[in-house]
Amino acid sequence: MIIVMKNGASKEHIDHLSGWLTERFGVHVNPLYGTGTTVLALIGDTASVDKDALLRDEYVERITKVQEPFKLANRKMHPQDSVIQIGQDVFVGDRKIVVMAGPCSVESREQITDIAKHAQSQGATVLRGGAWKPRSSPYSFQGLKAEGLELLHHAHQETGLPIVTEITNPAHIELFLDKCDCFQVGARNMQNFELLKELGRINKPVLLKRGFANTIEEFLMSAEYLMAGGNENVILCERGIRTYETYTRNTLDISAVPVLKRISHLPVIVDPSHAGGIYWMVAPLARAAIAAGADGLMIEVHNDPAHALSDGAQSLTYESFEETMASLRGIANAMGREI
Ligand code: PEP
Ligand code: MN
Repeated sequence: MIIVMKNGASKEHIDHLSGWLTERFGVHVNPLYGTGTTVLALIGDTASVDKDALLRDEYVERITKVQEPFKLANRKMHPQDSVIQIGQDVFVGDRKIVVMAGPCSVESREQITDIAKHAQSQGATVLRGGAWKPRSSPYSFQGLKAEGLELLHHAHQETGLPIVTEITNPAHIELFLDKCDCFQVGARNMQNFELLKELGRINKPVLLKRGFANTIEEFLMSAEYLMAGGNENVILCERGIRTYETYTRNTLDISAVPVLKRISHLPVIVDPSHAGGIYWMVAPLARAAIAAGADGLMIEVHNDPAHALSDGAQSLTYESFEETMASLRGIANAMGREI
């Protein structure tokens, strides 16, 4: 971190500020005196340095970060790719591209079990399905809640597929623990820091979705919350961000994939369903994701999309899921991977 001082900052003032920084935050301060301006280079762990307090100093002109604020999620700290295990035998971040598929919402025992079997027969290795649904309208279907978890567990017992499902409330963690294999934190909760802190205390993987109005740095800082608590089993998911474009539900930030892969060691998956918001866009966006280096995909598949209780427009039928999976194989191979 670099602090640029205003012209006229006295040596006495700079000594006082440097002393405070060292005493309060444990950083070493290296002052560089110029003809008019003095620059302070802070060396050490600057993550906890209070920038707001510094900006209140009448002689501080501006503050520049020279290091990313995320540490545990940073590739500099961990040069090898992290591989995150879900259930017994799914590894995200390995050579095999992991496809997580299933309905937006769990609707009934028959629905989730049937979808699980079809998704599995086409190569999906993780079953997704929402039991608690964070909906924009309080009048929309809110999910089957605890019953939905039981139905997911039943589908797991029938197929062996590990389960990823969204958690919206830290008070539900206990309930979820033996019913799911991976906790999903949805876009709307990416900065629910109390939820992140609680999930940081457990050992199960967390699929963290990017908030639709969050920068890549904010996304990684949320991953950092989980990891700082001790849970390093984090999978990042790009699911589209909000832009001025209204033709698509969100804009898939495909460039986030190579950026995240470059600056972080965590595996990155893409959700083309919530990005495009319409079924026919899922396959091309999924292909783009793999070509950009994604480690996996999360795809909404439904037995009867026209009557789905949520996100029917973007859900794939069994036939289109099969076609989509077939179209992904060549791209995965070209990337030196399999699916
Ligand atoms: C979902 O996966 O069903 C979902 C609600 O996704 P997001 O949080 O990305 O909107
Ligand atoms: Mn959905």
